[in-house]
Amino acid sequence: MDTAEVVIVGGGIVGSSIAYHLTQAGCRDVLVIERETHQGKGSTGKSIGGVRAQFATPVNIRMSLYSIPFYAGFEEHTGHDSGYRAQGYLPINSVCEGRARTTGPKDKQQSGTDGLRSSGVAPRRRC
Ligand SMILES: Cc1cc2nc3c(=O)[nH]c(=O)nc-3n(C[C@H](O)[C@H](O)[C@H](O)COP(=O)(O)OP(=O)(O)OC[C@H]3O[C@@H](n4cnc5c(N)ncnc54)[C@H](O)[C@@H]3O)c2cc1C
Repeated sequence: MDTAEVVIVGGGIVGSSIAYHLTQAGCRDVLVIERETHQGKGSTGKSIGGVRAQFATPVNIRMSLYSIPFYAGFEEHTGHDSGYRAQGYLPINSVCEGRARTTGPKDKQQSGTDGLRSSGVAPRRRC
């Protein structure tokens, strides 16, 4: 039976990232188990690939702030082009429920970091 020092269940972005960072930290015996025929058939493969720093929880914001320069230097880190292009991000949200669902400066402040620049734009017409 195969064994490994670290076994990661799921080869989506989270499992793959953990595996990558463990090996970068010196762990040489990492096994990623994926139930599908190949990686990325879960949420990761369906993602539109947007990268942003405004999230509702500090831990998500910190992960994003780590990942943005990582994606920018992805080819340098891995030898593969990630296709990342820093072109800005414009979330458009419904205000029908009485409040916009977007994350913004308030969430950014919760992170205790500077985050990225963001500003709100009021809709001209409410539904
Ligand atoms: C339509 C859509 C658009 C999105 N757009 C964005 C975006 O623009 N930006 C963004 O940051 N996020 C986006 N997301 C969210 C993002 O895709 C997910 O947060 C992220 O991919 C989750 O990664 P994961 O590794 O946790 O899960 P997954 O990618 O789902 O990976 C989990 C893996 O585990 C495997 N697995 C599960 N159980 C087992 C088991 N028992 N044994 C073996 N393997 C198992 C699955 O097959 C799967 O491959 C989007 C999501 C969707 C659906």
